[in-house]
Amino acid sequence: MSVIYNRVALIGLGLIAGSMAHAMRLHGLAGEIVGTARSAETRETAAKINLCDRIVDTAAEAVQDADLVVLAVPVGAMGAVAAEIGPHLKQGATVTDVGSVKQAVIDAVGPHIPEGVDFVPGHPLAGTEHSGPLSGFASLFQNRWCLLVPTENSSADAAARLRALWEGMGANVDEMDAEHHDLVLAVTSHTPHLIAYTMVGVADDLRRVTDSEVIKYSAAGFRDFTRIAASDPTMWRDVFLTNKEATLEILGRFTEELFALQRAIRTGDGEHLFDYFTRTRAIRRGIIEAGQDTEAPDFGRSGTKE
Ligand code: NAP
Repeated sequence: MSVIYNRVALIGLGLIAGSMAHAMRLHGLAGEIVGTARSAETRETAAKINLCDRIVDTAAEAVQDADLVVLAVPVGAMGAVAAEIGPHLKQGATVTDVGSVKQAVIDAVGPHIPEGVDFVPGHPLAGTEHSGPLSGFASLFQNRWCLLVPTENSSADAAARLRALWEGMGANVDEMDAEHHDLVLAVTSHTPHLIAYTMVGVADDLRRVTDSEVIKYSAAGFRDFTRIAASDPTMWRDVFLTNKEATLEILGRFTEELFALQRAIRTGDGEHLFDYFTRTRAIRRGIIEAGQDTEAPDFGRSGTKE
């Protein structure tokens, strides 16, 4: 494949930026990759494994002459990083982000993007429960969706070029508006994570009563929850603080359905339970048919999620 951006700056060097660095290298999509992270420790680790062509100390330094700037920090940190880099962006550059929530990022970052710079927010729907500079791998985005959320500061050319980058890294790309994105992700990712966190928390409370049996006899359902609930606390705190409305909306619906199932169990309404589980089984079929998961016994989840 050919070079799409001469110089790419990665701000934050965790799972997502690290995977982008590996994938861009593998497919020859960037002339030069410059990276930076908040802590000296992360920068040193990244340098040691040669994650980028150059590692620099500050975000302001990293964006010098960059054609693409990728904000790959927790959603709650995007605004401060944008404020730092704003005055140093090259005319004609594109800024994107990979945050899991879109409207809050647009509100926080948008005001710091100067005239003559495109801002094309994005979100790759791919991840693992691991984080940090050692956790990235080149195939993370393979056959996963990346959603672009163009704003009034995104030219069609800039969005098309960014789409080409994600496609070059193996992703399928779609565009949608921020409000819709945040609602869809509340259903498919954010609320399920909250439920997993809750279930593992409940089991942890119970463990004290059952003398570690919850861990010892951990079965597939609970094990899957624990994997999701091992996700990065900072990232997920920020997701719930910034996608408040949509998450609360979906949680409201969730609790209504939960109460209905609770009542069916109490009243012995087997028909209700059977019909409900038949409907949900069909959704799983649809996900497999759409190529977003496999029939493997571990649900194909040793690799990706979100
Ligand atoms: P990560 O592995 O935890 O890496 C986060 C990076 O951000 C680190 O380099 C960290 O620097 C830096 N950082 C943390 N707090 C910061 C702050 N206050 N100011 C400046 N830099 C800060 O995270 P990730 O999983 O790559 O996630 C990055 C973004 O991608 C997040 O917005 C997340 O919502 C989004 N996302 C994540 C997933 C997923 O499943 N993980 C999937 C899609 C999108 P230090 O290492 O120096 O602390």
